[in-house]
Amino acid sequence: MAEIIHNLIIIGSGPAGYTAAIYAARADLKPLLFTGLHIGGAPGGQLMLTSEIENFPGFPEGIQGPELMDKMRAQAVRFGTELVTEDVTTVDFSVRPFGLTAGKKEYQAKSVIIATGASAKWLGLDSEKKLQGRGVSACATCDGAFFRDKKVVVVGGGDSAMEEALFLTKFASEILVLVRGSRQGMKASKIMLQRATKQKKISFKFDAEVLDVHDPDLGKVTAVTVKNADGSTEKIKTDGVFVAIGHRPNTTVFAGQVALEQSGYLKIHDGTKTSVEGVFGAGDVHDIAYRQAVTAAGYGCRAALDAERYLVENEGVETVGGSGWF
Ligand code: NDP
Repeated sequence: MAEIIHNLIIIGSGPAGYTAAIYAARADLKPLLFTGLHIGGAPGGQLMLTSEIENFPGFPEGIQGPELMDKMRAQAVRFGTELVTEDVTTVDFSVRPFGLTAGKKEYQAKSVIIATGASAKWLGLDSEKKLQGRGVSACATCDGAFFRDKKVVVVGGGDSAMEEALFLTKFASEILVLVRGSRQGMKASKIMLQRATKQKKISFKFDAEVLDVHDPDLGKVTAVTVKNADGSTEKIKTDGVFVAIGHRPNTTVFAGQVALEQSGYLKIHDGTKTSVEGVFGAGDVHDIAYRQAVTAAGYGCRAALDAERYLVENEGVETVGGSGWF
């Protein structure tokens, strides 16, 4: 049993989690934030895997994703947020205070903000799994440098795919973007598509469904098999495969504890409330529509204000009104 009952536990260290922490800490709620362990031990959410961010207000020259997250973390810590570098592995929202487990320790909280974000989706091929880290990647920023003067394919037709392809022009000699649908049905925004189309190194193949990645037996990527619109298949030589086909919400740990959409996204209503009173949601974990760093930060702020109000009204917690509510 945990000794301390925290006012607020925030789960997640992306823009939503850190913004919630900044607001809650300024309101003197002394929040505890689980950063998660993340692949490679780098908490900070998806922006840690991004290069230049050009559309976060306040940075007219742009800012690197990891640098922005460092700044947000420092700001959260400055006002007294306690950070724990662990993944939350179980939650119990059926009891009060709420119970959480992380790194074999138990924690208790009067309120919780879920800001666990979303993770990159994979194609689901056996060969893709076997070759992850051996030529198959979902992060050009992390792995692009391994493909200097090499030929790579990017799978996907959204902005993520355009961004990956553009980033890879720094290293790869040729980048073929494999889009499963038609050019007209592409999800990419006009500006990103224009940028990618302008790049001589980038070319596109439409109605191209990736069926297989070769060659797990060799332990490296040599080619992909693609199915064309007429049903024919072809093998395209490549040294690397970058999968950029969207994201899936990180909600597995909350299944059965709080209502989720059929798609797995967290259900919220009336601001940031979830189906459990005292549990709030912020950022990409519930946001199917916008999924931007700045909207996630906005939701983090809202969740902190909602949590503060809940704590004052239901738990008799006194705050200093740092959030601006009181
Ligand atoms: P999207 O959902 O926009 O696009 C996903 C793409 O992957 C679609 O082309 C989709 O094809 C394709 N896809 C999905 N599953 C498969 C599969 N199994 N096999 C092959 N292709 C598949 O996701 P994004 O991550 O690209 O973008 C998400 C949001 O983030 C958007 O709002 C975007 O604007 C934003 N964003 C903005 C950026 C920027 O402005 N710099 C950078 C990155 C993202 P289909 O269309 O056929 O479903």
